[in-house]
Amino acid sequence: MQGLLEDLKNGFRGELLEQEPLSAHTSWKLGGPADLFLVPQNQADLQYALRVIKKNQQSWLVIGNGSNLLVSDTGFAGVVIQLGQLAKIAFLPGGKVEVESGVQLGHLIKLCCRKGLGGLEELSGIPGMVGGALLMNAGAIDTEIASLVSQVYLTAGQDEWALRCDQIDFEYRHSGLDGLGVITRALLQLKEDDPKELEERRLKILARRKEVQKVSGAHAGSVFKNPTGEKAWQLIDKAGLRGRRIGKAEVSTEHCNHIVNMGGASSADVLALIEEVQQAVLRTSRRQLELEVRLVGWKD
Ligand SMILES: Cc1cc2nc3c(=O)[nH]c(=O)nc-3n(C[C@H](O)[C@H](O)[C@H](O)COP(=O)(O)OP(=O)(O)OC[C@H]3O[C@@H](n4cnc5c(N)ncnc54)[C@H](O)[C@@H]3O)c2cc1C
Repeated sequence: MQGLLEDLKNGFRGELLEQEPLSAHTSWKLGGPADLFLVPQNQADLQYALRVIKKNQQSWLVIGNGSNLLVSDTGFAGVVIQLGQLAKIAFLPGGKVEVESGVQLGHLIKLCCRKGLGGLEELSGIPGMVGGALLMNAGAIDTEIASLVSQVYLTAGQDEWALRCDQIDFEYRHSGLDGLGVITRALLQLKEDDPKELEERRLKILARRKEVQKVSGAHAGSVFKNPTGEKAWQLIDKAGLRGRRIGKAEVSTEHCNHIVNMGGASSADVLALIEEVQQAVLRTSRRQLELEVRLVGWKD
């Protein structure tokens, strides 16, 4: 780690924090420290960081808003890179939008609606950055972000490369972008539409979400993917686990595919509850619930 720190101090221009608690960067408000936490200023800075991390053979992980992550209480042994400063958006002719991966999805949708570019509105209220949304193929109502993607750009430390949408295996809450490198930006194809109508639709979707997805406490949205043809929350409810608690982690009484940090939960509490839910649903409905949230920093 010492060699890496020296290399970073020589050429990295962004923010560099040591032993940064990841609980400050996850929607669950959980997770121990990362040895190093980097916020690159721009793409060149990101590429420099990736090169020296590789040279020093350190583990690394890129995150967005941490709204889909369960980080262990011991944290991440290595470097966490957060891309919030890669936040440029360019509106191009023909309804195309080039967007960097650190742009907040909600901000992008708002700007697009105001410019009369439709397609993304149904994703309003998903609290991720564009990079996280692409990696997870985030979706809501009848839209998945994949349906609007023309190209995705990645880097592994050298020059960027591009993948067309048809070269990426997008599935329900999954993309073939996993493990390829860091998503730096994307080219989206939107549809020209009336700005006033789009804005009204966006606000309606946000209001509806507030109404039906009222969950008190810190959480990470849906913990489990819906098995084909079924709803994970119904299977959990049927297993009698609504309101089940381990420590300060609770299966939400309002939406039982959410697990809530009631204040003072540990990541171990949440993981124990996840495992209990999986076992109970297997017992009662013979369904293996697959995780939608990503586990970070857990030993096998
Ligand atoms: C209140 C709430 C509501 C939610 N509602 C929805 C919903 O309706 N639909 C839905 O699909 N999801 C939902 N989610 C889950 C989550 O917001 C989405 O999965 C979101 O897209 C994650 O984005 P993020 O920036 O937080 O990614 P993170 O959680 O930070 O990361 C997710 C994964 O992406 C990887 N990653 C992030 N950025 C990059 C990058 N630039 N390059 C390569 N890999 C990257 C990370 O390593 C990690 O594996 C919800 C979450 C919450 C808390």
